[in-house]
Amino acid sequence: MPEGPDNKPELLSPQEPTPYRVINPLAETPTLLVCDHASSRFPEALGDMGLDPFARRCHLAIDIGAGALTERLSESLGVTAVLAQYSRLVVDCNRQLLDPSAFLVFGDGIFVPGNNNLSDAARKQRSDAIYWPYHKVISDQVGRLRNIGPPPLFVSIHSFTPVLNGVSRSWEMGVLWDADEEVAKIVIEELRHAGYKVGDNEPYSGKAPQDFTVDHHAEGGSLRHAAIEIRQDLIDDDRGVDEVAEVLHRVFDLAAERIGLRGQAKTA
Ligand SMILES: [Zn+2]
Repeated sequence: MPEGPDNKPELLSPQEPTPYRVINPLAETPTLLVCDHASSRFPEALGDMGLDPFARRCHLAIDIGAGALTERLSESLGVTAVLAQYSRLVVDCNRQLLDPSAFLVFGDGIFVPGNNNLSDAARKQRSDAIYWPYHKVISDQVGRLRNIGPPPLFVSIHSFTPVLNGVSRSWEMGVLWDADEEVAKIVIEELRHAGYKVGDNEPYSGKAPQDFTVDHHAEGGSLRHAAIEIRQDLIDDDRGVDEVAEVLHRVFDLAAERIGLRGQAKTA
C-alpha cells in the first residue's frame, strides 16, 4: 500500500479512481441523484477479498444496473448525480458505520473472508478513504444546489435481486419512504400507471433504521426525497436501462413539478 503524509498506508493509490464520480457537477436543475451501490470495484490493496469471480460481481457486491440507470437518468434529465466507485463490500455507504452490515461478513449464502474479523484500524481506513469522501461530495452538491435555487429533490437509486435467500420476489420496483410520503405516493402511482408491479415500502422499508444515505442527507437536511429500488433483471442490459430510464425520467420530472420544483433554478 502507498503511504500517506502521516506514514500510514493509504487504501487507494493515486492511480486508482476516486471514491465517487459526479456527473453534471454544475447542473442547476434542483434534483440530485445518488447511487450508493454503483460499483463492484475493490481497491487494489484489498485484492479479491477472498471472493471468487461470481461473488465479486453478484448483488452483494453491486446493485446490478443501478449505476448505468443513474447515469442515463442524470444525462436525460440534465441533473447532477453522485455515484460511489467502490463496492459496498469494501464499506457500505448506505449503512451507519456501526451497523454490522457496513462491512458485510456473510450474506445470501456467501462468506466474505476480506471482512472477517476486520480490525478497527481497517474499518477506519476504509471509511476515511471511501465512505466519508463519498458523503462529503453529496453534502457539497446539496449545498451548491441550495445556493443557486430551491433545496433539491433528493433521489436515491438502488436495485434488488429477484431471489434472496432462496425466496423469489415478485415486485418489479419498490419505493422506500419514511418522512416524505407525498413524493413517494406520486412515484408509486405513476410507476403503477406505467404498468409496473410496485412495492410500497417493499421489498425493503424506508422506515428501517439501518439505511443511511436518505436519512442523513435528505431527512437530516429537510429535502424532499424518494428512494427507488429496481429489480435487477429489468436493468441488466442497455435496452432495459433505456426503458426504465425513460419511465423514471417522466416520473421524476412530474414529481418535481407537483411539489413545485420545476423551472425554479436561477440562471447564472
Ligand atoms: Zn443498493
